[in-house]
Amino acid sequence: MKIELAESHGFCFGVKRAIKIAEENKDSDTYGPLIHNSKEIARLESDFKVGLVEDFNTFKKGDKVIVRTHGIVKDELSSLHKTGVDVIDATCPFVTKPQEIAQEMSEEGYDVIIFGDDMHPEIKGVKSYATHGAFVVTSKEELKKLKLRDKIALISQTTRKVEDYLEISNYLIPRYKEVRVFNTICNATFENQLAVRDISELADVMVIIGGKNSSNTKQLFNIAKEKCFYSYHIEDESDIDYSWFKDKEFCAISAGASTPDWIIKNVIDAIRKRVD
Ligand code: SF4
Repeated sequence: MKIELAESHGFCFGVKRAIKIAEENKDSDTYGPLIHNSKEIARLESDFKVGLVEDFNTFKKGDKVIVRTHGIVKDELSSLHKTGVDVIDATCPFVTKPQEIAQEMSEEGYDVIIFGDDMHPEIKGVKSYATHGAFVVTSKEELKKLKLRDKIALISQTTRKVEDYLEISNYLIPRYKEVRVFNTICNATFENQLAVRDISELADVMVIIGGKNSSNTKQLFNIAKEKCFYSYHIEDESDIDYSWFKDKEFCAISAGASTPDWIIKNVIDAIRKRVD
């Protein structure tokens, strides 16, 4: 069986940057998971003594705290600074951007709409920057229920599918006087999505590697599934069921933006070992 990696896959700029920051700041803690990959977080803990703290109230003056790639809520960030915590900001610049847009547009009197998952830390963070509040939607149907004014600013979660975002903006544009659409989908996500779309058309079986809680990995899996029925989302080689590869000639592989190369390599090695 031929095994091939999608042309663009795996670690993005923001995750590489955050990991480098964590490795340079031994004996610190991240507030919430630095990235959505539990195996990489375990590696940072064992090799660099970078801990994971979920309870915000435990931080005190002098603690070294790394802000994760997805960013945190505005009030929490100011509170850390006020407490005298040594804040090391690893928020991805592509996440900082929508935070700034949300604040600016809200202050200029626009109704801010965020296309994304309101339970995702990135969106909780971005929403908190909209001084007068923001609406979070995942579909056109949810949009229809909102009472909006005539000035609208639209922002997307960085990891959303472009086609889905277009559907939202296409709904708004003919209905409101002023709609400002900000392209806040990050390129890394976009390139990984394009590459999965291309390769999934050719593949007999597709394996997408990444954390089960990783939004961009889930998007890759959804795209793969559209073209390749035999698509599977795994976290690492221990999730593989080797019967997936029976009678298949071409296995394509991709990985989410927070999946380290060493996990991808382990998966490929494991498949090679067991499948001819
Ligand atoms: S996927 Fe994009 S926004 Fe998210 S961390 Fe990576 S570069 Fe930043």
